[in-house]
Amino acid sequence: MALDLEDLATRGLVAPERVDELRRVAENFAVALTDDVAGLIDPADPADPIAAQFVPHTDELTVSPEESRDPIADERWSPVPGIVHRYPDRVLLKPILVCPVYCRFCFRREQVGHEDALVSPEELSGALDYIRAHPEIWEVIVTGGDPFLLSPRRLGAIVQALEAIPHVAVIRIHTRVPIADPRRVRPALVTALAAEKAVYVVVHANHPRELTDTVRGAIGRLTRAGIPVLSQSVLLRGVNDDPAVLEALFRGLVAMRVKPYYLHHPDLARGTAHFRLGIEEGQRLIGALRGGVSGLCQPSYVLDIPGGHGKVPIGPHYATPGPAPEQWLVEDPAGTRHRYPPADETG
Ligand SMILES: *Cc1c(COP(=O)(O)O)cnc(C)c1O
Repeated sequence: MALDLEDLATRGLVAPERVDELRRVAENFAVALTDDVAGLIDPADPADPIAAQFVPHTDELTVSPEESRDPIADERWSPVPGIVHRYPDRVLLKPILVCPVYCRFCFRREQVGHEDALVSPEELSGALDYIRAHPEIWEVIVTGGDPFLLSPRRLGAIVQALEAIPHVAVIRIHTRVPIADPRRVRPALVTALAAEKAVYVVVHANHPRELTDTVRGAIGRLTRAGIPVLSQSVLLRGVNDDPAVLEALFRGLVAMRVKPYYLHHPDLARGTAHFRLGIEEGQRLIGALRGGVSGLCQPSYVLDIPGGHGKVPIGPHYATPGPAPEQWLVEDPAGTRHRYPPADETG
């Protein structure tokens, strides 16, 4: 059962006298937590990193000029409802616009959590027709909203429809359910993902405390079914802007057989300025992991360029052109620069 603002007050996660002002936030941006996530919050800690992600805050009413309702221009790249086709070889398919939890920094916060949460059967079949008609589409990323909130029957029907399209080779599902509502990853849901084609699942986790034993169980049900699981995280002030927290998060994921894929610089969604840090700070944080932490635990730090221009890595770079042609200076993890190729020692 999803918890709303009143439930949060009942549970002591929101002071009763603040409910009225937070109602203004909730009118703009949907609010929901699961029991699992609410149970991770320490109500005595005003800076709790789990509360910061899910409990609404009046800072969300402050919109800064660079923020937008559609920060990465999904709309501009949407040829038919339910599809976003920004890159030639892959599309987003959005069959549902509800989530088990509403992250306070969500880049799609203006689209999710409204009444018309399910894409209509006509729209879904139109979206699938679009994929059928575009042979350049090699991969379909099923996202939302959260596709794991669909019934196993509906999700299975989508997987089977994609399985039947010859040019689609890869089906990727983006979800927060295994983290936010792990008991929902039941055998019937896992069975619905069975396909001859490669099916990947990408989960969203931002803090090591999200990686509970119940979550480990849910991820295990996916990986034992042969589904590769990757993760994405968002770099957030007050949640994970600390090298030790990032290290624990990525190590925890890898130890559950989850490969950290992307660490996103936060998007310019409305009312999210309090979460954002500078790119330089982000580079320093991600750079601190290089060398001392297994390469398996290193996601790419990426920015989705506002306006829909695509995602690019913005992590620290280690190689710069050297003084001579064909020569490079390459920095090691400790910060010392070396010539590449090395100087001729016989010389
Ligand atoms: C993020 C995104 C993708 C997936 O990008 P990858 O770099 O392949 O993970 C595809 N289409 C759109 C519109 C996106 O925003």
